[in-house]
Amino acid sequence: MTDTAPATQTCPFCYTELDARATVCSHCQAVKDITPMWMVRLKFYGIGLGLLLGGLFFAFVDGRGVNWLAVVFAIIGAVFLVMRPKFDLTNQLWRRKE
Ligand SMILES: [Zn+2]
Repeated sequence: MTDTAPATQTCPFCYTELDARATVCSHCQAVKDITPMWMVRLKFYGIGLGLLLGGLFFAFVDGRGVNWLAVVFAIIGAVFLVMRPKFDLTNQLWRRKE
């Protein structure tokens, strides 16, 4: 019994039907970004956490009071982490080769 899962995908640039596993369009040579989702998430968390921890570190490590610029960075990092689900890329991206 064969499943009904689609075995093809469509190139967003030239609308050529491609094999579902194809990562390069056979017609226009567009390339599919196959960065795994966990890697995308790791990058995202890395940026957010880096900003948050780095900002907090620099905000209070300097003995001359609170460094507000660093606090702003920490807040941006925190917002990044909180907002992350909204940035989740559910679609893999196609890129046109130059
Ligand atoms: Zn194409």
